[in-house]
Order: sequence, then C-alpha cells, then structure tokens
Amino acid sequence: MFDELQELYQQVILDHSRSPRNYFKLDAANRIAEGHNPLCGDRVTVYLRLEDGVIRDVSFQGEGCAISKASASIMTEMLKGKTREEAQKIFNQFHDMVTTGTPNIDELGKLGVFAGVNKFPARVKCAILPWHAINATLEGQENVVSTE
Ligand code: ZN
Repeated sequence: MFDELQELYQQVILDHSRSPRNYFKLDAANRIAEGHNPLCGDRVTVYLRLEDGVIRDVSFQGEGCAISKASASIMTEMLKGKTREEAQKIFNQFHDMVTTGTPNIDELGKLGVFAGVNKFPARVKCAILPWHAINATLEGQENVVSTE
C-alpha cells in the first residue's frame, strides 16, 4: 500500500514536471516574483494577477529540477481563484507538511505528493521555492527570493 502510494506520488510529480500547467508569462500580471534556490540551481518566476485580494490568474516560468517544477505547476492550479488569506493558509500548511513529513491530504489534496520530500532535506527547498516566491508577492514584496 505504501509503495503504491509512493509510486502514484512519483507519477504525479513526473507528469507535472514534464508538462507543467500554467507555464507561460502572464501578460496581465500585476505582480511578479522571482525565486532562486542556489543549492539545486532552481529558478522560478511567478506571475500573478491579484485583484481585490483575489488571485484572478497565476502562471510561472523557470528552470529547475522535477520537484521545483512540479511544485510550481500544482501550486498555480491550486491557487487560481483563491483569496490572499486562503493562499497564505495553504502556504503555511504546505510548509508544515514538507518540514514535518506528515501528509495533509484533506487540506492540501494533490500537494500531499510532496510530503515525501521531507526525507530529503535538500529537496524541501526545491518544493518550497515557488511558494516562498508567491508568498512574498502576496505580502507585497517584489524582490528576488532566495531559499538561503
Ligand atoms: Zn531543485
């Protein structure tokens, strides 16, 4: 059962890293954030259209490992249509999950696939990178975010 779950998780991550969703430059964006994870070499740019505290649209571009790409891809799927507060709550839950390794499928759905990265501390930074970037833009910062 556990192995099957692990395999399913790997398939979700592979799928999203090979064909990332919302992978384009959003021309209508009113907020842009860049993230950089020097440990792995991941770079991500997150484009956000925030209106009245709601994420109307979100996309990303970047280069990096499968984990960082898949995390950004699933993140854009999850955050479209969410309020700033909802997005920050998901960020906090995701952060807790990857640092403790306890899956939170009820709240996080597909993002639960990243619970396993907890076993690989260097990978935690890859998974969390796009989230740090978007969290910074939601708080109004537009600087380059580094996981270091
Ligand atoms: Zn990485």
